Amino acid sequence: MTKSAVVRIGVLALQGDFALHARALEKCGVKAVEVRKPVELDQVDGLVMPGGESTTLLKLMDAWDFVPALEKLHGAGKPIFGTCAGLILLAREVESPTQFSLGLIDVTVERNAYGRQRESFEASGTAKLGPDPIQLDMVFIRAPRIRRVGPGVQVLAEHRGEPVMARQDRVLVATFHPELTDSTKVHRYFCDLVERCRAGA
Ligand code: GLN
Repeated sequence: MTKSAVVRIGVLALQGDFALHARALEKCGVKAVEVRKPVELDQVDGLVMPGGESTTLLKLMDAWDFVPALEKLHGAGKPIFGTCAGLILLAREVESPTQFSLGLIDVTVERNAYGRQRESFEASGTAKLGPDPIQLDMVFIRAPRIRRVGPGVQVLAEHRGEPVMARQDRVLVATFHPELTDSTKVHRYFCDLVERCRAGA
């Protein structure tokens, strides 16, 4: 396949808030492509796996046979960004309860880990996406908590001293929903990663 001039980033559009991710990516100047079938992954340079309900997403992914196609995308060196349920699907281990996951980033996550009162909340956290730390508004919706971070994983953002955004090589994850704030800094960071990988850097 010859490379098109524009960077194309897929957004897994099986369930959840994929439309807002697509809008945030377009604000960063890339072409956002809604992905509903595994074969469509061949046409993208990277992929966002949005929040939603991970158990439902797993059923849909199974029905469409997405797992081998996602492994192929990762094996081809294309970056993947999972937010919330997307992170749960990408993690090495999932707790509360245990469920299948792709294991593409060496973290353990606990689902719905903030308890009833605080199932959904907004907060400010610190991120290091460039040379200087920045404050980011973060929206957590029935969010998981990252309970363990493997040695190859870099923590990129914290809230109350806990990791909420992390990266292992070409896999980026966040427990919060960056598409629900006005800031495009997190999407910009992912687009830069996709652009660098596409250029072979
Ligand atoms: N609680 C959901 C799950 O366990 C994740 C919520 C979200 O993606 N906002 O899958």
